[in-house]
Amino acid sequence: MADVLTVQAPSATRTVLVVEDEAPIAEAVAARLRSEGFAVQIAGDGLTAVAACEQLQPDLVVLDLMLPGLDGLEVCRQIQRDRPVPVLMLTARDSETDLVVGLAVGADDYLPKPFSARELTARVHALLRRVDRAAARSTTSPLRLGSIEVDVESRRVRRDGEAVHLTPTEFELFAFLARRPDRVFSRPQLLGEVWGYRDGSGARTVDSHVRALRHKLGADVVRTVHGVGYGAGPGAEPA
Ligand code: CA
Repeated sequence: MADVLTVQAPSATRTVLVVEDEAPIAEAVAARLRSEGFAVQIAGDGLTAVAACEQLQPDLVVLDLMLPGLDGLEVCRQIQRDRPVPVLMLTARDSETDLVVGLAVGADDYLPKPFSARELTARVHALLRRVDRAAARSTTSPLRLGSIEVDVESRRVRRDGEAVHLTPTEFELFAFLARRPDRVFSRPQLLGEVWGYRDGSGARTVDSHVRALRHKLGADVVRTVHGVGYGAGPGAEPA
């Protein structure tokens, strides 16, 4: 699992977790998705998939239904519990798809085997486009965090109704955290998501921006989680 921990997805690169116990299929799917520009990680069984999903926070999961240990249905339930992630489920045949669709486990799309690489990538792209459109709709409404209101479209921030000026990067960092108030991000994750830095250098940059946000918006707008990183909301320990 150590290699999963070190993967940092830059904002431009989408990460896909491929869950499939048949290595030749997994490798073929991964190779095709990599050739399309995705960062791909493979998990060969259900338990590994759940752990990898937690650590990797992929943008999409390609999930085989028939897996040793936890089956695809249970994996789908578990990975959707904490954080919605689009799931493309691979099934052995159409009749199986009908059964699984009836169970409403939370997969977003289904692809019966055998499938072509072209079909697979078309489904993956379509699913991500759907998710992007939904995200775009949801970000047009103002974000609220305590007494702070963030208008994402106009990029204006108010604290107790008073306008507060943030630099573009401060705004990006704060909006990124405020959109996900239940989550904590490591400094390298924030560098990847907000700054687009791939190599994880510049942890002090994150710290200085967090200090600036606390100074401008209040000490409790960003919380420190020791040994992990930062999240939006109270519980801060201002430096
Ligand atoms: Ca299988």
